[in-house]
Amino acid sequence: MAVDADVAVVGLGTMGSMTAWQLACAGADVLGFEQFGIGHDRSAAGGESRIFRTAYQEGPEYVPLLREAHRLWRELEVESGSRLLTATGGLTIGAEGTEAMANVLASIERFGLPAEVLDAAAMAWRYPQHRLADGEMAVLDHTAGVLRPEFAVIAAVTRAVSLGARVHRGTAVTAIEPFDDHVVVVAGERRFTVRQVVVAGGPWTARLVPALADAVHVRRIVMTWFATTDPARYGPERFPVFIRQSGERHVFGIPTFDGGSVKVALVAEDPVADPDALDRDVRPSALSAISSLVEDCLPELHPYPHRVSVHMDGYTADGHPLVGAVPGVPNVVVLGGFSGHGFKMAPAIGRVAADLVLRGEGSVGFLDPGRHARI
Ligand SMILES: Cc1cc2nc3c(=O)[nH]c(=O)nc-3n(C[C@H](O)[C@H](O)[C@H](O)COP(=O)(O)OP(=O)(O)OC[C@H]3O[C@@H](n4cnc5c(N)ncnc54)[C@H](O)[C@@H]3O)c2cc1C
Repeated sequence: MAVDADVAVVGLGTMGSMTAWQLACAGADVLGFEQFGIGHDRSAAGGESRIFRTAYQEGPEYVPLLREAHRLWRELEVESGSRLLTATGGLTIGAEGTEAMANVLASIERFGLPAEVLDAAAMAWRYPQHRLADGEMAVLDHTAGVLRPEFAVIAAVTRAVSLGARVHRGTAVTAIEPFDDHVVVVAGERRFTVRQVVVAGGPWTARLVPALADAVHVRRIVMTWFATTDPARYGPERFPVFIRQSGERHVFGIPTFDGGSVKVALVAEDPVADPDALDRDVRPSALSAISSLVEDCLPELHPYPHRVSVHMDGYTADGHPLVGAVPGVPNVVVLGGFSGHGFKMAPAIGRVAADLVLRGEGSVGFLDPGRHARI
């Protein structure tokens, strides 16, 4: 049968850009589709920075994937000539004995990760920017750092194109029609026949793969930046990235790269009914929770954000992504539901997708979409 390409990648955001790069590196004939521009900020990948960390509160089973991601981030930097990952170290702060802390410590022990456990006294000495509550401690992950999301997506797509991938930007895919030995990708009036498809639609995953309609839900995340009058104290050399669970409040933070704005944001995750209608407006009353957290936990920062930006991600019920073939949907691999923590692992996910499509191997058991698909 005549085909337009071996593989189509639908969605060239975080996962799709890395998949297109990895497929093109392996010599595949790739067609990519992106409804907006490459490197846009209207979905999961915008907002200037993302945390990379390996000592993983979501579970030590991610560590091999994250190590592979770290290697591939450095490889993409070399291939693209772009600086994408800045090492800063990273703190996980929380109460002793929580599941999150246990997972971080298990990651370190099982894989021999370079890290230090810091009690409240050590934190007060080394990182006095943070105010800890009674019973809290921290783990410093020496592998952690900051990624630049928009530049990373652009670097991967540019590299894929230079290796021969063909990219349709500003082109929304309206349907994916799977058959036994091929798939038709429909974009308005145009139809493209390919052997296999990788769907990396982020918040639009459920719309593109109806079998996953109940499996991926969209949530909104608001990012906020707070001013410091002492930028040296909050720069990448002295203020590691952090994630922190303080009671019911989950928060993350990133040092200043512009000489004054420190990103500190709550993982609030409000549901979004329609990803095409994401509310990008933030009312002042919606900022009181993050302001009071900053007053409590980072008291040297100005407590009212001078900058906000609104994004969204696809979430699964168990918080783990869907990576692999969808049962009952032939020749389609899905990468979705990254649940607010997928960026750091993106190049490794791209490698997994390329292996699945080109060699039919390399699936990651605990991320199998079969656990959620409605067949
Ligand atoms: C505010 C915020 C902060 C985060 N912080 C971190 C962090 O610090 N560290 C971390 O590791 N992770 C973090 N994450 C999570 C991470 O950014 C996401 O999990 C990841 O970016 C999801 O990638 P994706 O490819 O699934 O989605 P996206 O990057 O959104 O890509 C999906 C792409 O598909 C395109 N698309 C959708 N439908 C169609 C269609 N029909 N036709 C053509 N194109 C289509 C979209 O336009 C988009 O470009 C954060 C997420 C958010 C929202």
